[in-house]
Amino acid sequence: MRATVLFGAGDVRIENVPDARLIEPTDALVSVTRACICGSDLWPYKTMEHSNTGRRMGHEAIGVVEAVGADVRTLKVGDLVVMPFAYSDGACVFCHEGLHTSCIHGGFFGTDVVAGAQAEAVRVPQADGTLFVLPVGKDDALTPSLLTLSDVMGTGHHAAVAARVGPGKTVAVVGDGAVGLCGVIAARRLGAEQIIILGRHADRIALAREFGATDVVSERGAEAVERVRELTDGFGVHSVLECVGLEQSMRTAVSIARPGGAVGRVGVPQDETLPASLPAFFNNITVSGGPAPVRAYIEELLPDVLEGRIEPGRVFDRVVRLDETPDGYRAMNDRKAIKVMVKL
Ligand SMILES: [Zn+2]
Repeated sequence: MRATVLFGAGDVRIENVPDARLIEPTDALVSVTRACICGSDLWPYKTMEHSNTGRRMGHEAIGVVEAVGADVRTLKVGDLVVMPFAYSDGACVFCHEGLHTSCIHGGFFGTDVVAGAQAEAVRVPQADGTLFVLPVGKDDALTPSLLTLSDVMGTGHHAAVAARVGPGKTVAVVGDGAVGLCGVIAARRLGAEQIIILGRHADRIALAREFGATDVVSERGAEAVERVRELTDGFGVHSVLECVGLEQSMRTAVSIARPGGAVGRVGVPQDETLPASLPAFFNNITVSGGPAPVRAYIEELLPDVLEGRIEPGRVFDRVVRLDETPDGYRAMNDRKAIKVMVKL
């Protein structure tokens, strides 16, 4: 079968690889119908050292169940499913607490352990706990929005939950990538009164406004902090969604939270240390977040997608075939696309 393999910075190729197959009795084999490229795929795309074997990319997908292992109970061949970026058994103590990304039998797609989903097929461990059967046909018009439930919409929602967004709150979203834009959707959905998006790309800002952003701050660093304070009576916002992961973005996030506020971070940190520790301490700011347990959020978000109340699929502004996936990486890396869908 064909699959996307990253061999080093800037070197992503479509390769012929051994067919995906069942290994464990709890596995399902899924034929991928849609995948996508994630902002987090761009970190290794920018920085990975050369590898002869490469890394199999992709952790977001919708597909059709082709085969199930002997212990799989809830799925059958032919089911259309959405695949969260992490697999989980749905049964352990952390899954019961809604923290599926800490599942004791869990892990992540697109790693050395489990191959990626930017491929013709993918092996899904812990299939009963991981996959969610979709109540639509495989070419339904809602497919782009349903695909975001595998990562970016659930991740934006997690940022909002971690930042304690609620009715009447003031919110800032740091980052205008697909996750930040979904964070705007999530903040509005949870009842935020004011939503300030920090970003500087005209097309993304326009979409953020359509998703519910009330204010735009295009400055950076100290000037951005100043602008947010001006927009919030000098205090800063209750809730900050940090959707980038860089030292500077985290520093900005803490600096624009009002005393007693919260920062929900979902951008994978590119630093070992937590920036802005001192202002976070002196302003009693809660810093929370991490890899989103998107599996836990599908049930909650799905009705809003099915009934058209939210349209996170609008973050996809380019569709490529599997063979064109390297072009998709370039487009996202060059900021020529917000998010790329791979259609198989
Ligand atoms: Zn678990």
